[in-house]
Amino acid sequence: MASSSPSTDRAVPERPSNREWKRFIARTWRGRCPRCGDGTLFVSRFRLRADCEHRGLVFRREQGAMTGQMYLSAVVTEILAAALVLVIFFGTDWGPGLSIAVSVPVIILFSYWFLPRGMGLWVAVGYMTDIANREPWVDGQ
Ligand SMILES: [Zn+2]
Repeated sequence: MASSSPSTDRAVPERPSNREWKRFIARTWRGRCPRCGDGTLFVSRFRLRADCEHRGLVFRREQGAMTGQMYLSAVVTEILAAALVLVIFFGTDWGPGLSIAVSVPVIILFSYWFLPRGMGLWVAVGYMTDIANREPWVDGQ
C-alpha cells in the first residue's frame, strides 16, 4: 500500500541538522533573523520586531510567545548569580556589604547584556521547532 509522502520540493528541510541549528543560533545571537541572517531582530535594544523586514519571517507570532524567553533569561541569570555567590563566598574574604556591592551590579549588567540575546535564542528555538513541525510559514516566500 502506497502512502502519500509529504511534498519534497519545499525549501525547508524536514528537521534542522546540527549545522543548521548552530547557524540559526549564531544568527540570532548576533541579533539577526534565523532564516535569512540579513534582517534584524530588534527595533531597539529590548524591542523585538514583529517580523523580518527582508523575508517576512514572523518573530512575534502570538501573545505570550516570548514567555519562555523570560524563563530562559531568569534561569541563566540565577545560575550566574548562584555561581557568583559561591565564588565570592569561597574565593574571597569579603564581607556582606562588599559582596553585595560587587555582585548586584554584575548581575544587573549581565541581565542587560543577556536579555536581547535570550530573546534571540528564543526566536531561534521557535523557528527550529516550526521547521521540525513543518509549519507553512517557515518556507521561503
Ligand atoms: Zn529574515
